[in-house]
Amino acid sequence: MMAQYIEIKTANPDSLLFYRMGDFYELFFEDAEVASRALGITLTKRGKHQGEDIPMCGVPVHAADDYLQKLISLGFRVSVCEQTEDPAEAKKRGSKSVVRRDVVRLVTPGTLTEERLLDAGANNFLAALTRIKTGSSEEDAIYGLAWVDMSTGGFHVAETDHARLAADLAQIAPRELILPDLLLQEPVIRGIAEQGGAALSPVPRAFFDSSTAADRLAHYFGVKTLDGFGTFSRAELSAAAGILDYIEKTQLGERPPLDPPSREAGAGRMLIDPATRANLELVRTLSGEKQGSLLATIDRTVTGSGARLLASRLAGPLVNPDVIAQRLDAVAFFADNDLIRENVRQTLKSAPDMARALSRIALQRGGPRDILAIAQGLAAAQTVLMQTGAQDAHPAEIAAARSSLAQAPHELAKELIRALRQDPPLLKRDGGFVAEGYDPNLDELRALRDESRKVIARLQADYAEELGLRSLKIKHNNVLGWFIETPTAQADKLKDNPNRFIHRQTMAGAMRFTTTELADLESKIASAGERAMAIEMEIFDKLAEAIVSSGDLIKAAARGLSILDVSSALAKLAQEEGYIRPVVDMSCAFDIKGGRHPVVEKALKTGGGESFVANDADLGPEGEGDTGRIWLITGPNMAGKSTFLRQNALFAVLAQMGSFVPAASAHIGVVDRLFSRVGAADDLARGRSTFMVEMVETAAILNQAGDRSLVILDEIGRGTATFDGLSIAWATIEHLHEVNRSRALFATHYHELTALSQKLDRLSNATVSVKEWNGEVIFLHEIVPGAADRSYGIQVAKLAGLPARVVERSKQVLSQLEEQDRQNPAQSLIDELPLFAALTPASPAASGPSATDPLVEHLDGINPDDMTPREALEALYALKAER
Ligand code: ADP
Repeated sequence: MMAQYIEIKTANPDSLLFYRMGDFYELFFEDAEVASRALGITLTKRGKHQGEDIPMCGVPVHAADDYLQKLISLGFRVSVCEQTEDPAEAKKRGSKSVVRRDVVRLVTPGTLTEERLLDAGANNFLAALTRIKTGSSEEDAIYGLAWVDMSTGGFHVAETDHARLAADLAQIAPRELILPDLLLQEPVIRGIAEQGGAALSPVPRAFFDSSTAADRLAHYFGVKTLDGFGTFSRAELSAAAGILDYIEKTQLGERPPLDPPSREAGAGRMLIDPATRANLELVRTLSGEKQGSLLATIDRTVTGSGARLLASRLAGPLVNPDVIAQRLDAVAFFADNDLIRENVRQTLKSAPDMARALSRIALQRGGPRDILAIAQGLAAAQTVLMQTGAQDAHPAEIAAARSSLAQAPHELAKELIRALRQDPPLLKRDGGFVAEGYDPNLDELRALRDESRKVIARLQADYAEELGLRSLKIKHNNVLGWFIETPTAQADKLKDNPNRFIHRQTMAGAMRFTTTELADLESKIASAGERAMAIEMEIFDKLAEAIVSSGDLIKAAARGLSILDVSSALAKLAQEEGYIRPVVDMSCAFDIKGGRHPVVEKALKTGGGESFVANDADLGPEGEGDTGRIWLITGPNMAGKSTFLRQNALFAVLAQMGSFVPAASAHIGVVDRLFSRVGAADDLARGRSTFMVEMVETAAILNQAGDRSLVILDEIGRGTATFDGLSIAWATIEHLHEVNRSRALFATHYHELTALSQKLDRLSNATVSVKEWNGEVIFLHEIVPGAADRSYGIQVAKLAGLPARVVERSKQVLSQLEEQDRQNPAQSLIDELPLFAALTPASPAASGPSATDPLVEHLDGINPDDMTPREALEALYALKAER
């Protein structure tokens, strides 16, 4: 047996091998050590290998799912090795023959389909990444991405480039990422791949061979050419073929029913880089919880597939105003029709997850409950169709969803309902799921079986009466079948008549017998039961086949239901929380009236304390040709600056994903990229200090933001010495204003920066109003034009409970410092330092340096010996910008 084990293990080196032995999956050698540690189960020994004890641990088969779940969530992969023949067969070959075994499935984080191993409201994506080099540098390369949710069949591909790669991967948020092993060895790629926390599965390059990719794809879908699916780039085909190879490898030949690959143009989505996604707490808070994220706050969906769709819309807001308007139309429809909305939501509440049930059925992993799920899901589709039908005209998105509901296989649904019992068992092999009256033969066999059971009950009464033993019972177990049992003390009467009562077993305190009558009945019951079971299996397979052959229609209906769920849920949210429909167009407007932070507002509401103070923001163009505007917000800590910054970023996300927004009115010109640099935490795992993280994120913004971007920057430069920080913040604002020309909100505690508004015509100062009363600060949380006069840091410190003596002493130090500062005001910077713009040439320099090249001129004007390090840094920035 060990020889067999080692052979199978050698063929499956990168996973833990669950080796089936009777009612257990056993693990040996290093696998046993790893698994016992990970699962907290006992490590034992079994036999010897090369003179050493073999470590072993095991998990019972019936509880294997729980252990699998734990191992998968820890990022392990598991090969499940089953006995592939009856032990009796092996015996026939010779007494020492080992039962044949083989790996039947490789379980990996990205290829799960079991309901218990999945989160109902989240997609479980397996993604593939490949690179096609077009030049010598990484920047030239094209990247192919493919991602699949095997539990629903969703299959997407996209092409991207080096700059977008991290953001695109963050949008997909795969559970497992496969990529060529050599690619993963590159530190930059490894860094990007590790960022999202996906399990990384390196595979040989051959998986991604692009010359055969189209053929492999066509083969999988059983088509001659891919033309019917659309056109795909080489990078996309390579990624798609790689993912299919991996699926075939892990499923050992079973082919999950995937949708044809759909092409996701990366440019069709708002680009949100991983840091911004994390900082804005879109789907998870910074501490990793769902509660308190934007998604959790806005989610009113009532189905798992609706929750998944909502999450994916939130992860990838759109940039096409027409498509956004279509989604908003659908939300508006449900917002305007309360009755329809509530009815639909009521129906959807009890609608099962058809997409996932369908996948399990197609992978031969489905049970009777999955068939019932399809039946009930289709019935819900029919009901929803009626409930939304009263209207004569529907918005396009709802009309499309309804038409997929109308085309669902409703006849099949009726058949399934007729065929299944209402509360079928989980496993097909348990039988007993086909309803009475569906199959006459089955009914007959069941009657026979049940009748025989009654006969047994009568027989028990007869024996008891005849022998005068009230405690005599007829029982059943799997080893003996039916038998008569009586306490040993009263067994004499049976023992006295050995011809009739044949002894079978002696237990502690009881004896067991059988009779010819009982044996006859037993074989009748058994054969009726077996035949009934065979019929049930046949019926199951027939129904499963019918379901799979209508798979596309069922999937389309499931998708229709999820769209209706999302639209009605967003309408519900809008109504409950007072959200309004935003106007999204191709202008450069960003005009919010009475905006509220959805998460903070909710937290305040639940807390029952003060209510949220709504605030306006207007970053739109002031005049013709203007491309954007920056607000510089000063104000004390705790006043509400971060909240204001974040809420405006969230409006862009919400509006462009097709949701209403928490405001009195909102007009947003499409934001193509969203950047944020807010609150930093040390990234110690990657060896970066707070300041380094902050600078890396700021650099990314200054290098990438454009005139359609929205940028929010909170307190940059805080992590270093005052003058360094102030200088960096200063230069950053100038760069944003002159070079990036993005719409931006910039919160700072450097009051000196407010002087910039004198020079930068598209910069306005705003502050959060504060009242001072008896030496205490009162935060009004109101954003008003102007600059804060003071930072109230000491007052806030006092509120926080700093000892009174320390507060007093701080006041003394502060007044001294302020006195000195007055002699060296920042105004001098404004008066004396040439503006960034002045350093920037109007048009890029002609090719090659020449005497008139502004770059050369500028260089000539620099005398390094006269400069402070800060000036040198600034000069370097300026030179770089000129280039
Ligand atoms: P800052 O960034 O200025 O230090 P925050 O934005 O972190 O301040 O806000 C501090 C706290 O003030 C928040 O946790 C919230 O409870 C409250 N707050 C912020 N903005 C508002 C508002 N508009 N209305 C009511 N409370 C607010």
